[in-house]
Amino acid sequence: MLKVGLLVILASVTFAQNSPSRGVGPVTPAAPPKTHYVLRCGTLIDGVSPQPRRNAEIVVDGNRITEVRASAASSAGTQAVDLSRETCLPGLIDVHTHVLLQGDIIVDYDEQLLKESVAYRAIRATVSARHALEFGFTSIRDLETEGAGYADVDLRNAIERGIVPGPRMQVASRALDVTGAYALLGYNWEYEWPHGVQVCDGAEGCRKAVREQLSHGADWIKVYADQRTYMEGNVLHSRPTFTIDELRAIVDEAHRERHRVAAHASGMEGVHDAVEAGVDTVEHGTYIAPEDIQQMAQKQIWFVPTPWLAYYRADQFPQQAQRIQAGMKVAEDTFRRAMAAGVKIAYGTDVGAFEWTITPAMQFPTMVQYGMTPMQAIQAATIHAAELLNWRERLGSIEPGKLADIVAVSSDPLADITVLEHVDFVMKDGTIYRRP
Ligand SMILES: [Zn+2]
Repeated sequence: MLKVGLLVILASVTFAQNSPSRGVGPVTPAAPPKTHYVLRCGTLIDGVSPQPRRNAEIVVDGNRITEVRASAASSAGTQAVDLSRETCLPGLIDVHTHVLLQGDIIVDYDEQLLKESVAYRAIRATVSARHALEFGFTSIRDLETEGAGYADVDLRNAIERGIVPGPRMQVASRALDVTGAYALLGYNWEYEWPHGVQVCDGAEGCRKAVREQLSHGADWIKVYADQRTYMEGNVLHSRPTFTIDELRAIVDEAHRERHRVAAHASGMEGVHDAVEAGVDTVEHGTYIAPEDIQQMAQKQIWFVPTPWLAYYRADQFPQQAQRIQAGMKVAEDTFRRAMAAGVKIAYGTDVGAFEWTITPAMQFPTMVQYGMTPMQAIQAATIHAAELLNWRERLGSIEPGKLADIVAVSSDPLADITVLEHVDFVMKDGTIYRRP
């Protein structure tokens, strides 16, 4: 019996690797549930309509939304779910997470790499995934394992096969950086120490690294475009890592194989090089020069700011609060300029850099404070995030034909965005994981 099961799994993996759409969704997913639900929502924010609507019903057959209609008196023979005092929204999406990190402030980063095996970290990652789902995040893009190899690929596949509960995932596996730029650093030179990334140098060396990561199941390639930031006036500068030739080779190789590139870039120089090389998403982007903002808007490069983390860090490290607050001002200004220029912005928090017991929804109020309307902030984490993932056809809104990823909260998030920190109903793929 076990043997047959293994063969089936092996056969599906082989098929997936040979299929042209390698990477995203390469695994035979778990069979959809055979359930039929009618969710009666007091208010519905569907992710695409400019206004919420009152008293709506969402019909879910198996793992799909089949109808959205005004509430009717009778829905005989169906499993009605009473959410009449709730606001329903599409499942939330965080496009910058680290399931294999457990708050690198609380548990020292070096310690996680030096003392915890990948197996142990992977076990913990299944708990991170469970937290994400219970907080209402039904899809995530996990942007590197920080030294845990391809454990994110395994977790993504295990979730897709229904082995453990969690959000659907796109993963970046190991990430790339140059020699000498990424932790662990500063240890005895007589030994080889682990790194939080795959080190590559030279255009050809980095092409090979991209091929390696894609062959092991990475959906995205992540590069560190810069390191070591410093302020000069109101500008955050950074030291670029890769040469522009190396960055271009990475982007070219990933695109050639129909995958995309996410660039960590915090300061002016790093962002500039990433944009110049044609990456697909810029992560953090604390300072972005006006010309690069124009380029991002023109080339449709996504901006994934992660502003809440700074507030968390300022709170954890009061002695550094002044420096962190200076960075926040820069980040807010960049955020406002990007919005005004029409740069596409998606919701990403860097959770994992803070503990998974904290909901990634903590960032919504910051994005509103930085100039988004509550509806825009919600769309950044639903329909726009789905678009970033190239899953807009399947996810990001509550419309017939889409996958049934639906969450609910007990009051109006347009009036008080912080209510998203208390999601009390979670459905993913037609299965209910949490009820009010
Ligand atoms: Zn990150």
